[in-house]
Amino acid sequence: MIERLVLGPLQTNCYILYKNNSAIVVDPADEGDYIAQYLADRELELYAIFATHGHHDHIAGATALSLITNTPLYIAKEDVPLLNRLQQTHKHFTGLNPGPNPKDIVLIDRKEFVFPDLKIEVVSLPGHTPGGVGIIFEDNLFSGDILFADGRAGETSHSYSSPIKMAESIHFVKDFKGRVYPGHGDYFLLP
Ligand SMILES: [Zn+2]
Repeated sequence: MIERLVLGPLQTNCYILYKNNSAIVVDPADEGDYIAQYLADRELELYAIFATHGHHDHIAGATALSLITNTPLYIAKEDVPLLNRLQQTHKHFTGLNPGPNPKDIVLIDRKEFVFPDLKIEVVSLPGHTPGGVGIIFEDNLFSGDILFADGRAGETSHSYSSPIKMAESIHFVKDFKGRVYPGHGDYFLLP
């Protein structure tokens, strides 16, 4: 099952993937305490918090959610420099303080992750950021800021972005056979 919560000033999609009582969160956006309460109300046990990439609007809630639920944040090592600037960037863009970095961080170092009742595959989707990843759960791809429902692609104007890698990542998303759940806006299904 998939739940979407739209959170924070930038209307970021936070996804809760679950089966039976096992859950993982993809992009805690902000309002980590709200997500923790949402999970608790539904008696869902959280096993992992995944970051599709290190942008502040996608991971500002990681600290609170990680602390409350005692669950690690999984992020690609190439985006750790962005995580390390999280407090600064989130304050700059939203005026809010996300707190210090989560203490419990797992670097994404393989393709397959198995949690009780849940199996996911992680694919590398760099370009928008160096350590962008997509999370595949059943026939669904959670793709972060690569491609949106209106056909727009994510920004590649940052110094650390790569338009060449982005083109490959966009290809991957367009070729995906199933639903694509982006970091902002509605899901879409490509022919
Ligand atoms: Zn982004």
